[in-house]
Amino acid sequence: MTRGARAPCTEDGCERTYAIDPRRKTTLCRQHASALFAQDPARNAKLSKAMTEKHADPQWKALRAPSCAAAGRKLAANEEFTARNREHMRRVGQKYGGSVKGSESRKLAGQKVTATTLAHIPLEYRADYRALMISGRVRKPERVRLINDLVKADQKRFESTGKLPQLEREKRRKS
Ligand SMILES: [Zn+2]
Repeated sequence: MTRGARAPCTEDGCERTYAIDPRRKTTLCRQHASALFAQDPARNAKLSKAMTEKHADPQWKALRAPSCAAAGRKLAANEEFTARNREHMRRVGQKYGGSVKGSESRKLAGQKVTATTLAHIPLEYRADYRALMISGRVRKPERVRLINDLVKADQKRFESTGKLPQLEREKRRKS
């Protein structure tokens, strides 16, 4: 095989080529191969974990801050991005505003995100926690403290009355 030989991308309608290399695992051009790898959940989980770990280091975070801010400004100036983001935030607003639209799989995905982000909040207190969150007046540590206080108060009440106040609240919400 001659050095520098190239082969056409096998993706339909793609006219790009890639350099032939026995180590290559695909017959796609660089762009199409990247798009394919970007869909791999295991790879994304690994990258996400690495990023979270890096951000836990204050020094690394401080070092990255200026370029993160610059990237934010660049995005804010990008009209296509802001339009897409506006549409996304509108959907988020609809979701938290009560009228949930979207396919079943989207709703399920939303529930999974909630289960992850609210993992520290017991199920029957999540509606209360979310209400605090939406109000925007209480920051996260305070929200968690308020909910923990509520859990303790409910427990006390249960010990003296045998009733679960959290279940009564849930029932009221549903009726
Ligand atoms: Zn291609």
